[in-house]
Parts: sequence; C-alpha cells; structure tokens
Amino acid sequence: MKHIAPDPPGIVRNDVAAIQELYAKHVVPSYARFDLALSHGAGSYVYDVSGKRYLDLGGGIAVCCLGHANPEITEALITQSRKLVHVSNLYYNEPQGRLAKAIVTALAPGKVFFCNSGAEADEGLYKLARKFGHDEGRFEIITAFNSFHGRTLAGISATGQEKVKKGFEPMVQGFRHVPFNDLDAVREAISPATIAVLIEGIQGEGGVTAATPEYLLGLRKLCDERKMLLLMDAVQCGHFRTGRFQSFQRILEGVAGGESFLPDGLSMAKSLGGGFPMSAFWVREKYQDLLGPGTHGTTFGGTPLACAVAAKVMDVIQRDKLADNARAVGEFIKSELQRLAGKFPNVITAVRGLGLLIGFEIASNIPAFAAGDRAASIQFVNRLHEAGALGIPAGNTVIRILPPLNLSRREAEEGIQIIASLVSKLAA
Ligand code: PLP
Repeated sequence: MKHIAPDPPGIVRNDVAAIQELYAKHVVPSYARFDLALSHGAGSYVYDVSGKRYLDLGGGIAVCCLGHANPEITEALITQSRKLVHVSNLYYNEPQGRLAKAIVTALAPGKVFFCNSGAEADEGLYKLARKFGHDEGRFEIITAFNSFHGRTLAGISATGQEKVKKGFEPMVQGFRHVPFNDLDAVREAISPATIAVLIEGIQGEGGVTAATPEYLLGLRKLCDERKMLLLMDAVQCGHFRTGRFQSFQRILEGVAGGESFLPDGLSMAKSLGGGFPMSAFWVREKYQDLLGPGTHGTTFGGTPLACAVAAKVMDVIQRDKLADNARAVGEFIKSELQRLAGKFPNVITAVRGLGLLIGFEIASNIPAFAAGDRAASIQFVNRLHEAGALGIPAGNTVIRILPPLNLSRREAEEGIQIIASLVSKLAA
C-alpha cells in the first residue's frame, strides 16, 4: 500500500496536566475520565502524550474495528474527501446507496436509514415502532433491565438502568423494563398499548450478558402473535464482533429454527464507521417503507464521506475474514481468561461473551482495592493502564475486552500475559 499519511509523532510535547487543565476549564465535566491523554495510534496500539505504548483491548468501546490509523480507512477518507464530503439528504449520493446495499446483503432484505450515533439509530427504531402502532393507539416499547440505549432523553428512558435516568426525570413516556432473558416477564408486561420489544443481542454496558436462543426465538413468536415489532440494538454487539455479522446469528448457530430468525428493525453504530462517527438502522422488508417522505431525517446522516469509509470498513472485514478472526482470537482470549478464573477464583469470578465482545467479572472485595474509593472495575483498569493495556469497565465489577477485529493471536497473547500478571499480583 502506498504511503499516504505522515508518520504519527513519536512523542508529543504536551503534558497530561496541561491537557487536563484545558478540560477542567472548558469541557463539560460529564465524564469521569482516566488520567490518560492519548496522542496517536497504530494498529492495535495507542500511545499517550509521553510516548508510552498501550495494547488497546478496548477499541474505543468497540468502535475501532480495524485498529488505529488503518491505512485503508485513511485512503478512503482522503479519496472521498477530495471528491465530495457532504451534500445533505435532499440529493442522492452513490456511497450511501452502495453501503445500504452492502448492509442489506449481509443481513436480510429491507432498507437502511443512516444517522450519526447509536442513540440516534435507536431513536429511529422508537419512531418506527410508534409509526407502526399509531393508528391503533399503541406506542409502548418493552426493554430489559440492565440494557443500554444511549444518552438522549428517549435513550435514557429506554435504558433499563436507574443511574442514567437520575436527575433527568420525567422520562419520555412509553417504555417499560422487564428482566432480561425472561420471556414470561415480557408476556406479562404486554399491555393494550404495547407495540414493540427492544433488546440487545448481548448486553454490553450491562456487563456482557448474551440473550439465550430460547429467549430470541420465544420473543419472535410472541411478537408475531401479538402483532408487535421485535427490535434489536446491535450498536455494541453487532458488526462482525461476535464472529457473525449480527450477534443473533451467532447465538442461534445450530439451533433449530434459528436460520429463519430475523428482527423487524436493528440499530448499528460504533464499528460501522471504524472510528468515523456514523450509525444506521435497518428495517425488515415488510416494514421498510413505514417511514415515508417527511417522517424522519437528519442533516449529517449518510454523507458520502461517512458511507465511503463505512463501505471500505465492511469490504476489509469481509475480504480479510475478520469475523472468523474475531471468533478464533476471541475464543483464545476467553479460554485463557477462564483458565485464570480457575486459578485465581478470588479475583476473576466469571467470564462471558462471544467473539471479541468479552467480559470478565472481578470480585468486589479484592484486598488491594480496599483502600481505593473507586469501583473495583475502575481500579482494575487503572492497573491495566500501568501495565500497558487498555480495557473498558462495565458497572462496578466487569472488565470488557472489545479490541479491533484484526487483533492478532500474538497481540492477544500479549494482552493475556498483561492481565495474568496483574491478576496473580492481586491474588497474592
Ligand atoms: N446502544 C448500545 C447497546 C450501546 O452500547 C451504546 C453505547 O455504548 C448506545 C446504544 C449509544 O450509542 P452512542 O453513544 O453512539 O449514542
């Protein structure tokens, strides 16, 4: 590949304190950030401003699916940005049509709407459901406890976690939460106003919990019987991360009746743009024209630039069989973590996940963390940083591994070594 981007700077002479001061003065303090200021990346590694290298096992929270500074993404960005960056959705642009075709081909017949973030893609699903039920006066959507659907007002209303709602009440009406993987709970929660069920195939922020095959098949049947839409939020668990394009395809592999399973709508974001911010929702063929002209829109959705990049990301994933890589490398990481859990049960208490969406649960009473005032997951990730790796906390006790889909076996071994050495120290 020809060299198209300058080498990243070796060491950038900004110190962390100076950057933190800029944030303290000028950035809304809505995030509790780690004490790390990152400067550049290459492949599965990122570098902080002092030049320290980290193996990125978090992938920007499941976003950087081809790693950092990927030359093919850079080339796609440069080529398209020289041609056309934005025109609005008043006009047609070829990359948007081409990307929609690629998504429909990978998933199933239907149509795609492009937008900009996971929360916005989910918002489209809520509107799809409301439009579907409008004439019958049905509008209510059932979601799961421990789910996560973004930080907009409808997003926090849909999310089944109290902590995101606190301080922002009243919520948008029309969402009810039930325990995940509990079909009877959904059945009991259905009211005359219910129009849809929305779940993640694998709950990510909630701590990496996969839907069971019985739950998925049962929800499909229930939604058909009650004339409700089955909606899936694939923002985190989708885009080949589990070893298949969508997590439900992986969960239902080899399960009788699983081959014909499809949701009615599905949201995607994160890995879709490989780091370029964009999102989409897919609507099944039967309902694909529900959102007709004038019913929905967004200025930046589906720009030629975003779509050219996302189409390249999809091409590379399919060409390089990165779903298979995610499955194989993910299996290796998971089995190594399970081995560690067996050896150090007082530190790692459970390992869950599929492909390269893995979560391991740590004990809440690790003695080395007793003096710290942060959650065990945060303290664990801080130690990972010291040891040269990034990981993503979920809740108080889960660490997520969501690396690039092209993580090599050697890089996975390096990551396991870093985690193993930390776990053995914490067990001592
Ligand atoms: N849905 C799921 C399952 C997510 O994991 C997230 C973000 O983590 C979102 C929705 C919201 O996406 P965004 O932050 O891009 O709005």
